[in-house]
Amino acid sequence: MSALFNTYARRPIALVEGKGTIVKDQNGKEYLDFTSGIAVLSLGHAHPELVKTIQEQSEKIWHTSNLYQIPGQEKLAQSLVKDTHFSYAFFCNSGAEANEAAIKLARKHTGKHHIITFQQSFHGRTFGSMSATGQGKIHNGFGPLVDKFTYLPFNDVDALKSAIDDTVAAIMLEVIQGEGGVNAVTDEFAEAIQEICSENGILLIIDEVQTGIGRTGTRFAFEQTPLKPDIVSIAKGLGGGFPIGGILGTKELFDTFSPGTHGTTFGGNPLAVAVAQKVIDIVFQQDFLDEVKKKSDYFVEKLKAAFHNGEFKVKGRGLLIGLEGENEVAPAISKLEEAGLLVCSAGTKVIRLLPPLTVSYEEIDQAIDILKKVFV
Ligand SMILES: *Cc1c(COP(=O)(O)O)cnc(C)c1O
Repeated sequence: MSALFNTYARRPIALVEGKGTIVKDQNGKEYLDFTSGIAVLSLGHAHPELVKTIQEQSEKIWHTSNLYQIPGQEKLAQSLVKDTHFSYAFFCNSGAEANEAAIKLARKHTGKHHIITFQQSFHGRTFGSMSATGQGKIHNGFGPLVDKFTYLPFNDVDALKSAIDDTVAAIMLEVIQGEGGVNAVTDEFAEAIQEICSENGILLIIDEVQTGIGRTGTRFAFEQTPLKPDIVSIAKGLGGGFPIGGILGTKELFDTFSPGTHGTTFGGNPLAVAVAQKVIDIVFQQDFLDEVKKKSDYFVEKLKAAFHNGEFKVKGRGLLIGLEGENEVAPAISKLEEAGLLVCSAGTKVIRLLPPLTVSYEEIDQAIDILKKVFV
């Protein structure tokens, strides 16, 4: 009997070893890991550079708290804002906490607390981030929620326009809704959001927890849209498997957070920032990002060819890819697992493919073969 609270519908396997895209379970069976631990393992399992970084940093110093200067944190912040319109970073430990920081910053900066988010969004499980999430199934039983979030239909320009008034502090969205079904923002909607924010002095918060750090083929997914956020939240892929999250913000927001207004014990500790630094030193190289795009094009083309009879609609961007079908995906995920391919779901009818950004073309071919074997 398990002594764990029953918060997850866990698969019946335990992964005990991993290298790159390949993982092994307790019985020695091998799988292609196209979950990356839910978009976390940007560089795959046990990347030699990350192993070395953890080893070296852990021999120097792990943790000091933010009572002291942390040079690695300064450097990581500089690297993240370099060549962007952002000027400052704050580090925490997870995506939910990153969104908490974003919400607190937006509230304090504007002096308002009404935030518009979208149906099917996912922003996390803490009170603020859960309240921001536009899905009843995430809220059920936990009310009252934090005031005040309005959940609008995604990609509906008219609904957005009619919801804008002078109470609105911020609009918060994912460029591609990850958990909610791999739903991308349309150009038309992105343009409308940007215009509304600029004209009304409304802050734009983009949750890049899943889409950021190269996942969609650019450093941040918003770079492929007309959106210019005031704040982005990041986490998942940033630490490549080591827990770290954060926000990036524009210089106009600097004065809003002063000493004592926000903080966290673990956030940006020397070990976490050393690992994240190594991740972005690799992922933010233009060659690496271009290669993510090329692999994505290759993968999407093969998926479309494999499912040309309409078994699935292929959606997404970069290496955040959704296969949308007619049926519930849970049984399909078990079949793929049996055949040696691990995938996630997104919503109830979308299979979400999230290989490490370092996946090889050969591994993509192998995944295609398994998908064809199971579905075609
Ligand atoms: C996973 C996720 C979160 C929550 O991150 P945690 O690290 O689980 O708290 C928030 N937003 C998005 C878009 C996510 O995909």
